[in-house]
Amino acid sequence: MIDQPPVSPRGPATLISVVVPLYNEEENLDDLYGRLTTTLSATGQPYEIVLVDDGARDATPMLIDRLSNRDPRIIALHLSRNFGHQPAVSAGLDHARGDIIVVIDGDLQDPPELIPSLIEKWRQGFEVVYAVRRRREEAWPKRLGYFVFYRLLNAISDMEIPLDSGDFCLMDRKVVTVLNHLPERMRFIRGLRSFVGFRQIGLEYDRPPRGAGSPKYTFRRLLGLAIDGLISFSGRPLRLATYLGMAAVGVASALLIWIFHDAFAYGKSPAGWASTAVIVLFMGSVQLLSLGIIGEYIRLIFLEVKGRPTYIVRDDPPGAQVDPTRERDHP
Ligand code: UDP
Ligand code: MG
Repeated sequence: MIDQPPVSPRGPATLISVVVPLYNEEENLDDLYGRLTTTLSATGQPYEIVLVDDGARDATPMLIDRLSNRDPRIIALHLSRNFGHQPAVSAGLDHARGDIIVVIDGDLQDPPELIPSLIEKWRQGFEVVYAVRRRREEAWPKRLGYFVFYRLLNAISDMEIPLDSGDFCLMDRKVVTVLNHLPERMRFIRGLRSFVGFRQIGLEYDRPPRGAGSPKYTFRRLLGLAIDGLISFSGRPLRLATYLGMAAVGVASALLIWIFHDAFAYGKSPAGWASTAVIVLFMGSVQLLSLGIIGEYIRLIFLEVKGRPTYIVRDDPPGAQVDPTRERDHP
């Protein structure tokens, strides 16, 4: 099990960072800022909020700049285009300076009021505290999709990823440093967070519906994220292709024996095109499926080998945006 008992309690954190990925969240930003600052001020600790503008097309970038001009604890980070949720979180993690780092969605589905409870667990000695959704107030097809995905991921992945945990979490500086140095470009953060280990614990909460606006993930993007997650954390689908091939060989051999037996014992040849059509279709689908699975892995290898940066920050000094990961590895 991932949850382990803590070793020794800690004193207060010196700096709390909160990372928020934002894509077209103009309706939620003021509310989010208000709730975050109220909660964080109440902790009595210094804090910073890293607002990552993931190439938003509405007033989000302007609102972020306005907040950061007004409040020095706000760090505005503008990506050069829309890179996606996971790259936006990675950008925030790279730029956060806190001793503890909280990752939270910008649509108020992750209640900021839970942060003190996350910090409390950290004080007890845990290095990763992830929020676990007890109940989701979303349409049932989406809930069913999530349910199936997390179970499938756990069934086939090579390690244990906590069920129903999203990106909402608190991480110790140690953990974030390790995460930031992982060389992978394809960042499935909740998977990588499990991969790195450390003392982890889940904290249950009810996930409310989105504050305002529409979900930024379309069905296609969610499906894409799910497939990438499955592929990058398990080699087992490749095995499936092998097993399918072996099963097909078994079926074909049985048919062959049956046909030869009929031909030699009774002088009969099998009749009908239906059996032929079924065999051709079956073989075709097994081959396409296997090719598809192999293709998914090649796609990820292709993406990693190209070595393009996970995200590009518009205001970084010249040169820094070329390859943030390599910059860090070879300073
Ligand atoms: N988001 C982002 N870039 C994207 C899509 C989403 O930064 O390309 C942000 C979005 O603004 C929100 C968070 O990621 O703060 C989660 O997005 P969403 O609510 O659409 O996802 P869901 O809750 O449906 O998983
Ligand atoms: Mg959401």
